[in-house]
Order: sequence, then structure tokens, then C-alpha cells
Amino acid sequence: MHVLIIGAGLAGLTCGRVLDSLGVTVTLIEASDGVGGRVRSDQSDGFTFDRGFQVLFDAYPAARRHLDMAALQLRRFEPGAIICAAGKRFVLTDPLRDRAAALDAALAPVVPPLDKLRVLLLALQLRRQSIEAILAGDDETTLAYLQRRGFSAQTIATFFRPFYGGIFLDRSLRTSAKCFRFDFKMLSEGMAALPAGGMGAIAEQLAAPLLARGLIRLNAPAMELLSANGRVVGTRLASGEEIYADAVVVATPAPEAARLTGLPMPQGALQTTTIYFGGMQPIYRGRKIVLNAAPDGLVNNAQMISNVAPEYAPPGRHLLSVTLLGVAEMSDEELYRGALADLRRMFAGDAVALSALAGYQPLRIYRIAYAQFPQAPGIHPLLPDNRSGRAGLYFAGEFTEASSLNAAMISGEKCAAAMLLDR
Ligand SMILES: Cc1cc2nc3c(=O)[nH]c(=O)nc-3n(C[C@H](O)[C@H](O)[C@H](O)COP(=O)(O)OP(=O)(O)OC[C@H]3O[C@@H](n4cnc5c(N)ncnc54)[C@H](O)[C@@H]3O)c2cc1C
Repeated sequence: MHVLIIGAGLAGLTCGRVLDSLGVTVTLIEASDGVGGRVRSDQSDGFTFDRGFQVLFDAYPAARRHLDMAALQLRRFEPGAIICAAGKRFVLTDPLRDRAAALDAALAPVVPPLDKLRVLLLALQLRRQSIEAILAGDDETTLAYLQRRGFSAQTIATFFRPFYGGIFLDRSLRTSAKCFRFDFKMLSEGMAALPAGGMGAIAEQLAAPLLARGLIRLNAPAMELLSANGRVVGTRLASGEEIYADAVVVATPAPEAARLTGLPMPQGALQTTTIYFGGMQPIYRGRKIVLNAAPDGLVNNAQMISNVAPEYAPPGRHLLSVTLLGVAEMSDEELYRGALADLRRMFAGDAVALSALAGYQPLRIYRIAYAQFPQAPGIHPLLPDNRSGRAGLYFAGEFTEASSLNAAMISGEKCAAAMLLDR
């Protein structure tokens, strides 16, 4: 059996790895000049720049199944966050795992004491529940779920909106509560991490055995699918070359899958912008993410990447990344200036941070037009199946599961299993 996989993101790579390991002949074609799709990193002047700030949760079940986590040399964030609100900074943490910050966090007035208990209770409950139980049943928005659990408007505004807004790329908290519960469970059972070599190292690790044997063709965009006798039998590349196979897997992002197949896909796009700055001193100590609680800020969150993973910066230099939600119609210059102005407000009164920040240089901007698809409550059971319903055509991509690294890998493995069963 020869399987053609269109797209070498995490889903296509996982599908290819599973099939290849079971003796199926695979060919992957990738439109761009490298593997990884949304999980790529660039190296320049000793810095590593992920193409958009993102993290790997080390508790992701699919990551544990498919990745050699030790070889990735994961560098972990500390739990919790530093919340910047009204010109002050407050630490919030998981007291069970971060004893050093537990006292500061217990005293932080930005989150009322009862809400701190609610966070602990939620963590304990979700740790006890299986992932299947968390994802089952009726759905609602994350906001409705948090309100139903009694969280105050203050905690929702100062912590949940920027923290989960940064994960869902949407501060409105209209994302499915199933996504929230799953991510909350992952974060209470493990840590958010960066591979020492950049997020792109995840894709490179998955791709390595396939690349080594010449099974992945880069710069090879599929233009259309080829059919014969009601069956999908291959693809025509932009170059005009035709590739035939016993089965074809579309492993592109949803909009391209819709274009290639004409089949319905999840609509919409969540966008984000990542701005990188380099400096001579870190603007804060420790490995926590920094949240901007201001409701009208340009910056949603910022992180001293080199505090977490020193390998991301050359010796003696420090790397700061800043996450904006959406892609604003602003020039690079305006973005750099706007982000720095927000950072100065966030660290107001902190002389050490402000003096360090004064020396920071703009390095790079990534505008990501398609980072995730919006996951409104109730969307997950309606997502496409790995079996397209058309003979010879399968799907592997986050869009069959949920919008995450874990989901993309699960989609890849489920697609491989479906093909093997249908053989
Ligand atoms: C900035 C950002 C932040 C994120 N944050 C997180 C996070 O913190 N945690 C998390 O779990 N997830 C996060 N995500 C989501 C996660 O990265 C994605 O869900 C996942 O990578 C999707 O993988 P995929 O294989 O389904 O799709 P993709 O990675 O999009 O891969 C699809 C591949 O198909 C290729 N392709 C497209 N068209 C064609 C064609 N015609 N012919 C051949 N090839 C084609 C593309 O070039 C690409 O390589 C984030 C994403 C971004 C961009």
C-alpha cells in the first residue's frame, strides 16, 4: 500500500511516522521549504525565534506517545503567572508545586482568597477526572463555566482572560469549556515547556527518520486532487507533476483542505502576532509568563524566553517575546513602539525592569494569519472525520479533533489507524 500525505505539519508527520513504522510506503509532500507547518523556528544571530509564541504541555498524552521528550531537552515555565494590573505586579502560582512563590501568591490581593481556593479545587477535580470524562457531555463557553463555578468578575478579568486568552488566542473566553478544562488539566498535571532547540525541534524530531529516507518532498504544493472511477487516486502538484497512490491524506490547515476537497471544514481563523526584543539584562527574574490585565492593552502576554530556555539567546544576551492577539494593521515600527509602551506600563515603578527595557532592541515580528480555528462550544462532535466519506481520501489535521499540538498528533494517529482498518 502506498499512501500520499499532503502537508508535513504535526498531523501529517505523525500519520506518516505511524504508517511507516507499520511497513506502509508513504510519500509526504509539503508546500513550504521545511517541515512543521505551524511549529517552526528560525535561527539568526544566535537567537532562536519560534514562528509565533507557543508552548508544549509536557502532559500532552500524544506528545508522550510520539516524542522522545528527553531528546527535546524541555525547558519548563514555572506554574502560574505574574499579573500586571493597575501599574502593579502580582504573582499567582500553584502552591503545591511552586513553594518558592506560594507565600507571595497567597498574599496577592489581585485574586480574592476564595477564588484561589476555587482554582485549587478545580485542579484537584480535573486531575481526578479522565480526559474522556472532561470532553464528554454538554458544552458551554469557558466564561459561562467559570461563572458557574463561582469565580469573581475580578479574577476572570485579571487572570483568566489574559492567561487563557493567550492560549485560545481570544480573550473573550467564548472558547468551548471542554478546551479550557483539558488545558487546565494539562497545566495542573505538567508544565508548559520549550525544547532547547526551539519549538521547531518537535517537528524535526518527528520528521527525521522520514527525511533521512527521502520520503518527504519540500517545496511541493498540491494544486488539486486526482480522481478515477469515483476514487481519489493522487494529486497534481503546482509543477504539473502527478503523483498517484492507493490512498491520499489531506493534512493541510482547514481552509486548504476545504479548497482541495470541496468538503465542509471549520470556519474562521484566530490570528496572533509575536514580537521579539533582545536585551542585555532580563526585565524580570524567574520563569513565569507575564500577563497584561489591562482590558485595552495591545500586549496580552510577555515572556522572558531566555529565562526559561537560555539556549534561545546568544551568550550575554536575553530574548523577550511579546504576544498580541490578532494581526493589527500597524507597521513594524508602530508595533515595536506600541509593545514597548505597554511593557513600560506593565512594569511601572519597577526601576530595574524599566532600565533593562530601555536597552531592548526590536528583533523580529511574526504575523500569524492562521494560528488556530475558533472552537465555539459544541463544535467538536461536528468536526470532520478522518474518513472523508470519499473513497481513497482521508484527513489528518487538527481540524478533525481540536486546535492544538496534541490534537494534531492524535488526528495523525487516528487517520493512520482508519487507513489500516480499511485496507
Ligand atoms: C502562534 C501559534 C501559537 C499556538 N499555540 C499553541 C500552544 O501553545 N499549544 C498548542 O497545543 N497548540 C498551539 N497552536 C496550535 C498548533 O500549532 C496547531 O494546532 C498544530 O500545529 C496544527 O498542526 P497541523 O499538522 O494540523 O497543521 P499545520 O501545522 O498547519 O500543517 C499543515 C501543513 O500543510 C502544508 N500545506 C498546506 N497546503 C498545502 C498544499 N496544498 N500542498 C502541500 N502542503 C500543504 C503547510 O505548509 C503545513 O506544513 C498554536 C499555533 C500557532 C500558529
